[in-house]
Amino acid sequence: MATRIAKQNAMHSQGFTAEFGSRTEIGLVREHNEDSLIVMPPLYAVADGMGGHEAGEIASEITVNTLAELAPKHADAIQMVRAVEAANLDVIKAPSKGIGREGMGTTLTAAIIEDNRLLIAQVGDSRAYILSEGRLTQLTRDHSLMADMIDAGQITEAEARVHPNRSVITRAIGSDPFMRPDIYELAVNPGDRLLLCSDGLSAMVEDRTIASVMRRHFDPQECADALTEAALEAGGHDNVTVVVVDIPGTEKDRKRALKKYRRPKIWLGVVIAAVVLVFAAAAFGFNHYVNNSAYLAEEDGKVCIYQGVPEEFLGMNMSTLVEETDIDIDDLQPGVANRIRNVMQVDGVEEAQRLVEDYRAEIELSNVAEAPNSETAKAQAKAAAQSGSSTENAGGE
Ligand code: MG
Repeated sequence: MATRIAKQNAMHSQGFTAEFGSRTEIGLVREHNEDSLIVMPPLYAVADGMGGHEAGEIASEITVNTLAELAPKHADAIQMVRAVEAANLDVIKAPSKGIGREGMGTTLTAAIIEDNRLLIAQVGDSRAYILSEGRLTQLTRDHSLMADMIDAGQITEAEARVHPNRSVITRAIGSDPFMRPDIYELAVNPGDRLLLCSDGLSAMVEDRTIASVMRRHFDPQECADALTEAALEAGGHDNVTVVVVDIPGTEKDRKRALKKYRRPKIWLGVVIAAVVLVFAAAAFGFNHYVNNSAYLAEEDGKVCIYQGVPEEFLGMNMSTLVEETDIDIDDLQPGVANRIRNVMQVDGVEEAQRLVEDYRAEIELSNVAEAPNSETAKAQAKAAAQSGSSTENAGGE
């Protein structure tokens, strides 16, 4: 059975209330829950025991008991290291006293919150995360083979989740009398949310899902319950232990923090709307340009008026035939005819129609100018015809 050291569900510091929630579950596969936890403000911790035959449970229990007794009441890194080292020696010595067995050990991720200061001691692959302004950050580095391989670029995080050696840790309480924890000290803001968890959560549920659940549940106990349920729904292959602590702050701080959570979505909406507007404006401008463009071109020897542009866009023709005129291209001045054969773009359909009328008028004028010659030719032809007829008549006589 998991060891839980807890005092109260709220702490009071400088008039502000820090709330927390916690939960530990055996999971859906294991026969024992070897995890232990502390929720004893300002101290919070998660320990994930190992060793089989209940020894892991004993190792994690010894560790949280020693830590609860010796951990400092303030964010004092030196005192914290000493408390963890004492827990390590207690686990190592226990088998000689008939408690547990050789080789048992445990992870430990412990935190002390003092005002806006956060102190963390870390051994093994349990983790501390902080949710700040809606963003989840892993604060601790795992002491594990997978973390080493990821850092070396040998595997990805996704590959590590299914790797056969994913449970191998490289530092633990209970194996080395000279073991020292990693210490992290950082400033936190009112409204930030701290998460401590065993790998029964972090190995089963992706960080983005953890972040989503943490943003969604305002109450820290509901948040701890929801995270545990997420691990169980993902398969519950391991014991799951979760501690959620809201950094002390006023109600206003917490509400402001929730607003900040939503801000990225608002900005995302603004960006999407701006992109849509730009595309709509571009489409409108392009459509306006196409509808107000026209050109003259030759089709089967005739001059034709088209609305649009003589191009294709995504396989679509960008113009339509407005009129096939009765003007022969060969009746036009050679320069104009060449320009139309090569497509003559104009400022609109009306402009095209006006040009066509001009060309028609020029052709008619040209025909009138040629008219006298034509009459002469007709007269000559008539005379020739009459002459021919007289000859025939003369011949007939
Ligand atoms: Mg575990």
